[in-house]
Amino acid sequence: MLFENDAVREILREYRRVWALHHLRSLAEWDSDVMMPKGGSFLRGEALAVTANMVQDFYSSDRLRALLSRAENADLNEYEQGVVRVLKRSVHYYTALPPELVAEEERVVEAAKRAWEQAKEKSDFSIFAPHLERIVDIQREKAEHLGYEDHPYNALLDLYEQGATVDFIDRVFSAVLPAVRDALKRIVDSDSYFDHHDLENITYERHDMEGLNRAVLTAFGADWNHFRMDVSAHPFTIDLAGPQDVRITTWYHGKDFRRSLLAAIHEWGHALYELQQDPELCCTPVSGGVSLGVHESQSRFWENHIGRSLAFIETFYEDFRFAISSLEAYGPEDVFKYFNMVRPELIRVEADEISYIPHIVLRYELEKALVEGSISVSELPQAWNEKMEEYLGVTPPDDARGVLQDVHWALGSIGYFPTYALGTILSAQIRHAMELDLGPIEELIRMKNFGPIRIWLNEKIHRWGSVYPPDELIRKSTGEELNPDYFKKHVKERYVRMYLS
Ligand code: MG
Repeated sequence: MLFENDAVREILREYRRVWALHHLRSLAEWDSDVMMPKGGSFLRGEALAVTANMVQDFYSSDRLRALLSRAENADLNEYEQGVVRVLKRSVHYYTALPPELVAEEERVVEAAKRAWEQAKEKSDFSIFAPHLERIVDIQREKAEHLGYEDHPYNALLDLYEQGATVDFIDRVFSAVLPAVRDALKRIVDSDSYFDHHDLENITYERHDMEGLNRAVLTAFGADWNHFRMDVSAHPFTIDLAGPQDVRITTWYHGKDFRRSLLAAIHEWGHALYELQQDPELCCTPVSGGVSLGVHESQSRFWENHIGRSLAFIETFYEDFRFAISSLEAYGPEDVFKYFNMVRPELIRVEADEISYIPHIVLRYELEKALVEGSISVSELPQAWNEKMEEYLGVTPPDDARGVLQDVHWALGSIGYFPTYALGTILSAQIRHAMELDLGPIEELIRMKNFGPIRIWLNEKIHRWGSVYPPDELIRKSTGEELNPDYFKKHVKERYVRMYLS
């Protein structure tokens, strides 16, 4: 039994009420993005605002606080300590924020999402700007209520990645950005550079592509009794507050099949993290992935280190051909080049593994500036375009392909973007640690033997849910703190070799 302390057990009994709310709120969010008719958005926003306040009532109750201080003074095992740590974070969040602000954020976000959709469709930033101004104000207010040291952005960052600070992110980014920009420049200037691949244009039938996605995920170990895959405007993963029902989405464009496949593989990585948590953690505060950065390391591991590997492409090549008949004229080497082509792009979600990092650094720098007030919302489009030119050498022809491309700010998610880069960087470190134990993963991939990979991830990361804070989990699972050297080595090995050797 993982939880023995009386006070903790009492807390877990109380917690089931809020767990049920989380479960149903997740279902409502999944429905909003996959099923709901657009006209349902206002009432859905209301229902989410009301239930957000119910969640807040739970976390700000005197009874929970009394139980927590009783538990804190007891001798706890690591699972019980995890429960106390996670709950104290939520208690702090919800007691620091006025209920009106919590409900207002839900409503503002629901309206901002619709405004953002319209603005993006018409490529007209002015439709979204007043909503974004309100969102930035709310985030700054939140930071003041939550408290921080050194920089208000730290308060927001910590919501997604416990313990991360501007100092830490600056250190990590300054360790990788110069190397990435240098690699990009050398690749683009090289004789073997290509900015287009024929395979981007070959078409597929949606039904066949879906069959391929399903075949690949089944080979990876998907248990469709607890897992499903649908379609949405942007791929995502959602768990219904436990490991028994985890859902992903992907997208189908009718051509450029890597987009659909790699999105499904990416989301599978997120899903597996939730599916493989220790079942005994279910319905407790330590259920589920510990932070967005660690979560993204799981999706990026499957996407980049498995899905884009030559071993994977060669092994599954016959499945690709079965789904996409016109692939016949191309061999696995062509597919490998197509999956890994480096091309500075306007759009983050279409960026290759290398240009992805500058995309994130740009967003991080701009949102940090918004929060500290050194830039205004109206200055944002121009600042965006200037940084795109500086970091990637491309300038968006319009705001739809520039500052309006991502939904995150419309969702109020400021402080979220850096976790994408952390995950990409961490995934290379995880691969290194895994290979010390299992040998080269490419050999396992060639045997379609994904069991050892799943078991390693389970033992080292997944089963622990949120028991340990992210930095401690990274130390325990890889033997060291986040170390960008592995990512730099990976970039060199795959891309510099592909283009420059
Ligand atoms: Mg992801």
